[in-house]
Amino acid sequence: MLGTLWKSNSLRYWVAIGMTVALAPLAISVIGGFFLFNHGVVKIFKDVASRHLEQIVPTQQLRLQLADSLELIVEHEDEGADLWLAQYRALDHQIDTGFTQLQARLTNEPEARSLVQRAWNNWTVAAEIGSEIQQSRQLSDQRAIALATGYRERLSAASDYLEQAYTKLDAGVGADYQRAIRSYENALWLSALAAIISIIAVIFGVIIISRIISTSVDKLVGGAALFAAGDRTHRIEVEAPPELKRFAGEFNTMIERIQDSETALADLARRDALTQLFNRRAFDEALAEMHARIQRDGEEGSLIMLDIDHFKRVNDTYGHPAGDDTLRNVAQIIVVNSRPFDHAYRTGGEEFAVLLPGVNIDDAREMAERMRVGIAANHTRANGNDISITVSIGVAKASAALTPKAVLEAADAALYFAKSNGRNRVAIIDEFGCREAAPPRNGSAKIINIATK
Ligand code: GH3
Ligand code: MG
Ligand code: MG
Repeated sequence: MLGTLWKSNSLRYWVAIGMTVALAPLAISVIGGFFLFNHGVVKIFKDVASRHLEQIVPTQQLRLQLADSLELIVEHEDEGADLWLAQYRALDHQIDTGFTQLQARLTNEPEARSLVQRAWNNWTVAAEIGSEIQQSRQLSDQRAIALATGYRERLSAASDYLEQAYTKLDAGVGADYQRAIRSYENALWLSALAAIISIIAVIFGVIIISRIISTSVDKLVGGAALFAAGDRTHRIEVEAPPELKRFAGEFNTMIERIQDSETALADLARRDALTQLFNRRAFDEALAEMHARIQRDGEEGSLIMLDIDHFKRVNDTYGHPAGDDTLRNVAQIIVVNSRPFDHAYRTGGEEFAVLLPGVNIDDAREMAERMRVGIAANHTRANGNDISITVSIGVAKASAALTPKAVLEAADAALYFAKSNGRNRVAIIDEFGCREAAPPRNGSAKIINIATK
């Protein structure tokens, strides 16, 4: 499953996946950290600060104002001045406004709100007492003292309730503050963890991708080195990534093409351009090979050498191009009278050879006879003329005792023998000497005609 996935996706895909895997924890930590920090830290800190400003500070302020109002009453008692009246009324108004605002800001704090409400109730009663105190000039001393005492008690009760409200609010804010601190620490830990995971993911990603790529690249480099060293059989096997697989495929195709053209060139260098038979160089190699096989396996082998009789006359009479056509014709007759796997060679101008590994001298002689008869019966048509030619053939028995050169000399000697004895004949040579071959046992020579201009 993983292998298929790896092979089917491109290098770009894997680099993108690797980058995503490596960067995802970072991105998550940045986004998550932002939300965590914003909601868990900044929001709570803001909330704590605003509650402090809008609830705790005004509560404390109210307590101070209550204390101030008490002081004003005391001043009034002590000095009996008229100035306090204006101050008292202003303060009274401030305290009322303070309570109204504070209550509005405590909608989410029911307990603190009810405590403030009680403080406010006490203050309302105190304020009523306070307005009676304003009239204290008409009051008896006893009544004034009773009012002042009532005022003090109510203020003290209001202040106590405010203090309780303050304690409650402060405790809530303190808990939230601690929560914000913990969130902040968690955000820090989360960021550190994400950074560590990212680094590990990057390292793993780089190691895995580079290992897989380097395996494929090593195969490519190894294959190229073998190619440079002359190896044309090695093929580079790369499975993934697809880009390198394609590259390996192209490289293999290139090697095949080079191999084909090298084989074609090598073949060209071993072929005769006129007849398309193998040339002298190929003949020398094949003769050496046959000799090696005879020596190694002890098998039989024969060599047929053909030479066209009086070929010079053909050129002289019909022209060189007609001579060329005749040579091509002879080459084909030799081929069709050989076995499919025998190789025929043009070893000289109008000289041919056929190597017969595994064939004894008698069978070779019969094959030579078929060639001779086939060539003699053939006409090459050129410039309105039918050109008839004959060949003389020497057949030599190859043996482990004879070097390639010796076999060639023996075949030459037999050929010379055939020429000397009147041409258009086959002579054989073996350990019993050189002699003219008996006439063929059958007339199965294949004859072809080449019609030329
Ligand atoms: P013999 O029966 O003794 O072999 O006589 P011959 O005329 O065949 O032998 P000789 O060696 O005197 O002449 C060979 C001739 O083959 C001479 C040469 O012009 C001709 N020849 C060699 N190569 C070619 C070729 O490629 N094309 C043509 N048209 N003639 C060639
Ligand atoms: Mg010759
Ligand atoms: Mg000749």
